[in-house]
Amino acid sequence: MAKRRIVILGGGFGGLYTARALHLRGVTRHADVTLVSRTSSFLFLPLLYEILTDEVSDWQIAPSFTEVLPDGCRFICGEVTGGELQADGYRVRVRQTDAELTLEADTVVIALGSVSDDFGLPGVRTYARPFRSLSDAYALKAAITDAVRRVRAAPRETASFAVIGAGPSGVELAAVTADKLREERLRAGLPPTQVRLHLIDRLPEILPQYASALRRFAHRELTRRGVELHLGVGVASCSATGVELENGVHIAAETIVWTAGSRPTPVLADFPFVRDRRGRIPVSRTLEVPGFRGAYVLGDAAASVAAPATAQVAVRQAAVVAHNIAAGLRGEPLREYHYEPLGEMMTLGRGTAAANLLGLSFNGLAGYLTRRLIYLLAMPDPWHATKVGLSWLGQSLGEAWHVWSSPAPLTQAIE
Ligand SMILES: Cc1cc2nc3c(=O)[nH]c(=O)nc-3n(C[C@H](O)[C@H](O)[C@H](O)COP(=O)(O)OP(=O)(O)OC[C@H]3O[C@@H](n4cnc5c(N)ncnc54)[C@H](O)[C@@H]3O)c2cc1C
Repeated sequence: MAKRRIVILGGGFGGLYTARALHLRGVTRHADVTLVSRTSSFLFLPLLYEILTDEVSDWQIAPSFTEVLPDGCRFICGEVTGGELQADGYRVRVRQTDAELTLEADTVVIALGSVSDDFGLPGVRTYARPFRSLSDAYALKAAITDAVRRVRAAPRETASFAVIGAGPSGVELAAVTADKLREERLRAGLPPTQVRLHLIDRLPEILPQYASALRRFAHRELTRRGVELHLGVGVASCSATGVELENGVHIAAETIVWTAGSRPTPVLADFPFVRDRRGRIPVSRTLEVPGFRGAYVLGDAAASVAAPATAQVAVRQAAVVAHNIAAGLRGEPLREYHYEPLGEMMTLGRGTAAANLLGLSFNGLAGYLTRRLIYLLAMPDPWHATKVGLSWLGQSLGEAWHVWSSPAPLTQAIE
């Protein structure tokens, strides 16, 4: 009998963790499993901010698929451009630099994630940058260094940055950017007044979805770092000179980062599935697309009951999808996915984090160490996690020393 063909689209939390879970269930021995993704490496997004402060390196958070994909799983690097349902299964189109491929599949797993959403606001696409990839992180890091260098050469000028969106991504990014700016400013010998960082959100408070204790801690860490908060007023537009607010106030900023919205990747429209108002594909509790046998969707691309678009959800859904594919091959009953929030964690700058897990809160250095440990355990491959863990061990001791022995406390950050 011909081997079943399983094609996984997307090599992020949903896709890669499905491939690994299929391997653990022995499916890669009896079926052809192929994973398609546009980059040659996985990206552990929750740790992307720390690229700015050199707290992590790219080899740690972006291991190549050759390192983390299990044996028996084929990798194709290419851009998925759409797919069709045929009488004998699915056809998926993939564009590579020099070729167009058509992959045939009995089972297709869609884990193509999301993209930044500017809600059509004028100037956002042109003047604000996203923060979702390694190249975004390195470009922002270079922009910080360049801005401080420019101000050093022109002492009357100010280096101004704006982060739009005070949800988890914006808050984490603002805290880490503040630390990177401070580091560069001190190195350049500039006064705090020559560097400004704004955090903007139309809602009246930061992190509205989080517990009030975590919100308060995050608020304190941002203000300690001199981040200027503009809450309760929306952005009207972005331009080369900064951000225009709906109340007419202009915030000067040479670098603007947009974290205020995301939407499923637009390529989902090129599949034969129904999409919801936000462009996600509705799935049943077994994470299958209703009416399409052998089609699973998970992570940010799926509209599943009450589950937010987080890595936590995508990883847990990957386990359910892999279970259901294996169960389907054996004719066993499928499992359902039910969202259970496990808690939240966020970096709030160098050596500082907040972690709320199963009712327990860890802030500051304890939060930092907890977050690091949990992310280490969550890394896709144990051998890779071991290498990262060993390199962090030394680094964490250094961070602890930095926090407790810093001669200039964070209260003097960018004030
Ligand atoms: C900066 C940042 C920080 C975050 N921090 C956290 C956090 O701390 N905790 C948390 O729980 N969640 C966090 N999230 C959200 C979390 O990363 C996502 O919810 C999660 O990655 C979703 O998993 P996914 O598999 O659906 O998508 P992704 O992990 O984004 O994977 C999608 C994959 O598909 C590939 N792809 C997309 N389109 C195509 C195409 N057309 N062709 C080929 N390949 C394609 C992408 O390259 C990627 O490999 C963060 C997100 C960002 C952007």
